[in-house]
Amino acid sequence: MLGGRAGPAVLVAAAAAPRGPRVGHHATVAFRAARFDLAFVSRARVLLLNAALGPLDYRIPEGMTIAPGAVVVAPLGPRQLVGVAWEPERAPATAVSDNRLRPLLHAYDVPPLPTPLRRLIEWTADYYLAPIGAVLRMALPSSSALEGARVVTEYRASGNVPARLTAQRAQALERIGARQGLIRELAAIGGVSDGVIRGLVKAGAIEPVEVAIDDPWPTPDPGHAPPTLESSQAAAAAALTEAVRASGFAPFVLDGVTGSGKTEVYFEAIAEALRSDRQTLVLLPEIALTEPFLKRFAARFGCDPVAWHSGLRQSQRRRAWRAIASGEARVVVGARSALFLPYPKLGLIVVDEAHDQSFKQEEGVAYHARDVAVMRGSFEKIPVVLASATPAIETRHMVDIGVYRELRLPDRYGGARLPAIRAQNLVADPAPRGRWLAPELVAARAANLEAQEQSLLFLNRRGYAPLTLCRHCGYRFQCPNCTAWMVEHRFTRRLACHHCGHAMPTPGACPECGLEESLVACGPGVERIADEVAALFPDARSAIVTSDTIWSPARAAEFVARMESGDIDIVVGTQLVTKGYHFPNLTLVGVVDADLGLAGGDLRAAERTFQQVSQVSGRAGRGEKPGRVLIQTHEPEARVIAALVSGDAESFHAAETEARREAGMPPFGRLAAIIVSSENLAEATETARMIGRAAPARENMTVFGPAPAPLAMLRGRHRLRLLVHAARTVPVQDIIRNWLGDLKWKASTRVTVDVDPYSFL
Ligand code: ADP
Ligand code: ZN
Repeated sequence: MLGGRAGPAVLVAAAAAPRGPRVGHHATVAFRAARFDLAFVSRARVLLLNAALGPLDYRIPEGMTIAPGAVVVAPLGPRQLVGVAWEPERAPATAVSDNRLRPLLHAYDVPPLPTPLRRLIEWTADYYLAPIGAVLRMALPSSSALEGARVVTEYRASGNVPARLTAQRAQALERIGARQGLIRELAAIGGVSDGVIRGLVKAGAIEPVEVAIDDPWPTPDPGHAPPTLESSQAAAAAALTEAVRASGFAPFVLDGVTGSGKTEVYFEAIAEALRSDRQTLVLLPEIALTEPFLKRFAARFGCDPVAWHSGLRQSQRRRAWRAIASGEARVVVGARSALFLPYPKLGLIVVDEAHDQSFKQEEGVAYHARDVAVMRGSFEKIPVVLASATPAIETRHMVDIGVYRELRLPDRYGGARLPAIRAQNLVADPAPRGRWLAPELVAARAANLEAQEQSLLFLNRRGYAPLTLCRHCGYRFQCPNCTAWMVEHRFTRRLACHHCGHAMPTPGACPECGLEESLVACGPGVERIADEVAALFPDARSAIVTSDTIWSPARAAEFVARMESGDIDIVVGTQLVTKGYHFPNLTLVGVVDADLGLAGGDLRAAERTFQQVSQVSGRAGRGEKPGRVLIQTHEPEARVIAALVSGDAESFHAAETEARREAGMPPFGRLAAIIVSSENLAEATETARMIGRAAPARENMTVFGPAPAPLAMLRGRHRLRLLVHAARTVPVQDIIRNWLGDLKWKASTRVTVDVDPYSFL
């Protein structure tokens, strides 16, 4: 369902400041007046945490005090739902007479959602054409946080082996290890049902533990261990601290080469926020990066910040949410989901690795956390720092037009030099047949090993091989639910779809012709590169780093510790290792296939390759030893490769920006995708065509399609896409809202809009 709220959408890239909040006191006044005027029933307008519902009115029972932002429980039919009171004039609802109003059931004893956050939620729903209830849900992701109870019972392994140790029980205990959580959480970790865990509790192998979940958080100390900044660092830090002190909306781009000390610099801004008793939110693109961040933060400020990510247990989530909402959590570091939490006194937002595409959320509410962070900064009237060694073209453009202020750190800290980058021409000097590492990279690796230094091989592909086929009959393993090949994972001996998660054991024979041992793996994934490394350097210790191996902050911490102690010689990894890490003894980076990201006509393909390779190159030579980077490519002359080798980022970006300008692509024009999906192809096609026929004719706007979406089938649903391309001046959201608002389709067909799409899936 689409958000029905009308109202102008303020575009991050179009306006320096959003429209100011529309309400101040008069809403509260209206509420009070209603309550004390006995001639009227006092009512509250409530947004329920349900994407399918609009605002609804309820009666405020006597003795209950409700102001906008109050978190309440309201009846809906036989159900009870959590909701938030809203200013009535900002959330139009159908009129219901006083005598038909149902009373609110409960008001939680938690701080009301702050006004700037309510404005942000409205803006997000408007701009991204999302149901406001779905956006609101991101501010209240933990229902247990709303309750008052202070102790919960969690469970953990007791160390006792149960008398009857079935395979399932053994598996569960092994996977759970030293972890602790609710029955349900342990069941998920162990990959078993709740019943199995309960059985283990009865058998004494798992024991209950009482956990006090609202322990206070330590307060970071801004004066704990401040660094001595170099002059360009000091200048950047001064600009940021001044902005924090002044408060007021101030978007910054902290643009510094890898290893230049961006983190140290924005830490000074955090120190200033701490001194002025304001909260700071730091957004990181991956939860795997949280761990190294926590360590550095603790070294600088004397204690950990509050972490927020999908890996938290319910009790941790609850404790964090309550501390955030009360203002006790002074510094919060999190993934993009931390952006909508109810900070009552936010003073600073930092988006680290701001160019990273994982800030774009694709599922549920499709939003870009970098852009929403800037909007939150404008509603909160505070500085926002976008830190990156490779700012996105959209971000650079905002600097060019004078909206964002750029702070530059041109050199690496402490005289460390940027690594020397060379392209290795795979056409002239290919890898041996069936192998992926060409002679030059192998030789460099050998020299590196000799010198007892570490190296990193980067390939952005999980698993062993992206495609498996039968050499006899040509059968290819395709996902039954998606337009995608099944990816072989050798460690788990499975074929898996990376889009829907469908998996099967790798069969011994071809399912089509039945021939045994006829299956061959085509192309490399990181596991295959690791095999090649093992064959080439049997004595070297290697590690694979992907979301399959580093799926929690704890695993990331383990990896960091092994790297630091020199326990690993060679890392083979996906984009997960390109960011954030600082390993002084890592001196060689090999990019196994720089052409991979360039295939497939994506608007941002060259830019993304540039960012990824720069980031991964940035891991080399961060300490005293110089680093070097070898880029394997079939197209050494391609603009992006030439720019990486010459280090001339400016002319690369100038050319890319010019190409976007000529094509009217973002940031010079707008894109929005309308995705129609259904399990029934004919139904999806019919709806997509109907939407296409109803497309309004507007100047400076073109509607392409419907055409099969590049991933024509996903999770068993057929998908068609219409792409709206328009000039910046066209109010695309309003047009799409009106256009789709007039149409009807079957409930089994889903229509979603992706404003500013990044993936063209
Ligand atoms: P970036 O975030 O730009 O990649 P970092 O902040 O990670 O850079 O800095 C790179 C390394 O240099 C880190 O180990 C950091 O602690 C160190 N460093 C940077 N600036 C200073 C400084 N002024 N004093 C001491 N160490 C610094
Ligand atoms: Zn699939």
